[in-house]
Amino acid sequence: MQEPTGGQGEFVVVATPIGNLEDLSPRARSVLASADIVYCEDTRRTRVLFSACGITPRGRLRSLREHNEMAESVEVVERVSAGAVVALVSDAGTPGISDPGRRVVAAVAQAGLRVSTTPGPSAVVAALSISGLDTERFVMEGFVPRRAGERRARFSQWTTEARTIVFYESPQRLVATLGELADQFGERRVVVARELTKFHEQVVRGSLAEVATYWAEGDVRGEVVVVLEGAAPVATPDEAVRDALERRLATGETVRDAVSAVAEELRVAHRIAYDVALRIRSERGA
Ligand code: SAM
Repeated sequence: MQEPTGGQGEFVVVATPIGNLEDLSPRARSVLASADIVYCEDTRRTRVLFSACGITPRGRLRSLREHNEMAESVEVVERVSAGAVVALVSDAGTPGISDPGRRVVAAVAQAGLRVSTTPGPSAVVAALSISGLDTERFVMEGFVPRRAGERRARFSQWTTEARTIVFYESPQRLVATLGELADQFGERRVVVARELTKFHEQVVRGSLAEVATYWAEGDVRGEVVVVLEGAAPVATPDEAVRDALERRLATGETVRDAVSAVAEELRVAHRIAYDVALRIRSERGA
C-alpha cells in the first residue's frame, strides 16, 4: 500500500488530440502552458501542437522515447521530488497507450510521488465507443505482431476470446490482417475506424469477409483502429439441456417424459436433466 507523500511536485499525464486540435481540453492546455518541464515523444510534433494552441515552449520540451525512458525516469523522479510539475504528452492521444510513458509513471509512483492525469482523446476508446459492438467487456491488443508465426499465434488466442477485441494496425498491413482474420473468423462483425476526428474520417462496418473485400480494392491511407466482435459464447451443457427441455415442455410433454428423452438425446445424467427441469418449473412458478 502506497500513497503519495508531501511536496507540491507532480507528474501529469496529458492526453492530446488524435487529429482535431479542438479536442485539447482547456485543463490540458493550462497544464502544458504552466508545467516546468514537458516530456514528449517528438519535440517537433509537440512544438506544432503548442504553436497551434498558443502555448510557448520556453525551452521546457524534453524528448522521451522507449529507448531513453528508463534513464529519463530517474531525472523525472528527481525533478518531481524537488517540487516541479512535470507533464508528459505523446505524439497523439493518451501517453502510455501503445506509446511511451508507463515506465516513468511506474517510477514516479514507486517513489511515492504524485501522478495525475488530464484525460482526453485515445484512439482505442474513440473507436470502441462508436463501434456499436459490445463495450461492456473488451480487450486492447495494442499493435498486432508483424511476423507471420506470432500473428497466427495471436489470432488463434482470439478463437475463444468472448470480449470485444480492439487493436491498432498500420494501413499497409490492414488488408492482409483483415484477410487472415476473415479466413479464421469468417462472419464475425468488425469495425474499421480510419482517420478519426480528421477530415477524411471513415468508419467501415460489416462482417470480416465484407470489410476485407471492401478494403482489398484499394490503398488504405491514414491511421486505423480495428474493433472485432468477440467469439460467440459456447453453450454450456446446462444451456443445451435447458433448450431441449423447454422445446419439449412447450409441446405439452410431461416433465418425466421430457427429462428421460433429453437425458438420452444429449447423453447427460438423468439427475442433471431433472435439476434443470425443476429450475424451469420454479421460474415459471409452476
Ligand atoms: N496513445 C495513442 C492513443 O491513445 O490513441 C495511440 C498511439 S499508437 C502509437 C498510434 C496508433 O493509434 C495508430 O497507428 C492508429 O492505429 C491509432 N490512431 C491514432 N490516431 C488515430 C486516428 N485519428 N484514427 C484512427 N486511428 C488512430
